[in-house]
Amino acid sequence: MKRSIIWILTIVMTTALLGLLAIEVVYMENMVKMRNEQFGEIVTRSIHEVSTMLEQNETKYYLDQDLQEAAAYRTAPQVDFGDLAGDSIAADEAIKGMTIKRPANFNTLKDLNDSYLLKQEILKEQYLYQQSLLNEVILTILTQSSDRPISERADSTTVREYMEIELENNGLELPFEFAVTRRGGTLVYSTAQYDSIVNAGVQPYVQVLFPGDPAGKQHYLNVVFPTKGGYIFSSIKFIVPSIAFTLILLAVFIYTIIIAFKQKRLSEIKNDFINNMTHEFKTPISSISIAAQMLSDDSVRKSPEMLRHVATVINDETKRLRFQVEKVLQMSMFDRDNATMRLEEEDANALVESVVSTFKLKVEKYGGSITTELDAEDPIVNVDRMHMTNVVFNLLDNAIKYRREDEPLHLKVSTTNPSETTLQIVVEDNGIGIRKEDLKRIFEKFYRASTGNRHDVKGFGLGLAYVHKMVTLFGGSIRAESNYGSGTRFIITLPLYS
Ligand code: ADP
Repeated sequence: MKRSIIWILTIVMTTALLGLLAIEVVYMENMVKMRNEQFGEIVTRSIHEVSTMLEQNETKYYLDQDLQEAAAYRTAPQVDFGDLAGDSIAADEAIKGMTIKRPANFNTLKDLNDSYLLKQEILKEQYLYQQSLLNEVILTILTQSSDRPISERADSTTVREYMEIELENNGLELPFEFAVTRRGGTLVYSTAQYDSIVNAGVQPYVQVLFPGDPAGKQHYLNVVFPTKGGYIFSSIKFIVPSIAFTLILLAVFIYTIIIAFKQKRLSEIKNDFINNMTHEFKTPISSISIAAQMLSDDSVRKSPEMLRHVATVINDETKRLRFQVEKVLQMSMFDRDNATMRLEEEDANALVESVVSTFKLKVEKYGGSITTELDAEDPIVNVDRMHMTNVVFNLLDNAIKYRREDEPLHLKVSTTNPSETTLQIVVEDNGIGIRKEDLKRIFEKFYRASTGNRHDVKGFGLGLAYVHKMVTLFGGSIRAESNYGSGTRFIITLPLYS
């Protein structure tokens, strides 16, 4: 797949997924807003009803009081009107009682007329009585009710009871806390949890109590719902999984795209590697071929000096070829598991010594020197000989590749036993060093520090990744320390053979 197609796919998919996510979030916000408004409406309606019920309660209180007073100080002519307060059936019965008291000779038209008039008279008297009673009650409410303590007019138990009834009627059965306050906010009373909930930042719903009271004496009912948040959230719960799924989709998509780019890079690098290797193979092959042609020449065969020269060329070029083949093998190691490993008892000192001796000439060719300090008393480790040799080889090869031009190369390889169970191999150079930010990443596959190109040094960023992989497979670890500009130390720690 072309890079541009991957990019187009990335942009289209990311836009679509982000769009979906945005729609879900906006939808959720709107739902929350709507639910909040709905909640507010229900609560406002309920507490308004509570306030009306309290007012009705108060009217009944004064009506009862007046009726009791009337019963004590007034005697109705034939009917006890005290029983009539608010009870029309009782009134009818009373009127019926009146008619029972008709005279025994009730049989003429005049008698009927008298009876009718009497009944009318009673009803009129009854009406006037009720009217005066109501007038008295209204007057009392207007003049005296606001002097009654609010805790009596709207006591906590009644308010709670009314609130519960009204909220249930409106389909909102949630726990609530409330308080009654004076104008200006002074508290008259509150329920146990009210303060802590308001202090936590919850805004109360407010309703004026007894709106007919003079403005200066007005009281307010404040109600809060501790579980309101949960109630609102319960209505949008179903969107949460949908948002979660969209996020998962987005994450999986991003991961897939990263993999696609990595694969793309890998295939490009593999192609580069193959092209490079073909080129690298061609040079020694053509040199060996020329040497072979020279050997077929009689004059060359007769001169021992020329023969020695041709032999050296063939030897050097085959070494070069072997080195290239080794690199191809290392590259292929990344795609395979560790089935090709053959772990054996190996003497690390001897192994280091043999790799160093093959490097000595190369280092001296660049005017440098290589020294060893093989101090490990117990050098036996459990490794694959071929791969362990490659590990040391790669480190020494890098030290030569990343040497300084202005300074002769000094390389030191040492072995020690830092503990009874481990062995350490340290490869130290005085090369160009590695920047701190690169140091963390040099063991990553394909990672090359920018200085890697400074000397026009060819590489694929695979050498140290291979070293890291091998050392880990041997059960050990590797770390690097470096002073940028003055040198690098690679420290390999391996478990001893047991
Ligand atoms: P390559 O050499 O092919 O680039 P490596 O994996 O061997 O890949 O090394 C990764 C990077 O680490 C190199 O690009 C180089 O910048 C840095 N590096 C490795 N060894 C040394 C060293 N001895 N001195 C300085 N830099 C080094």
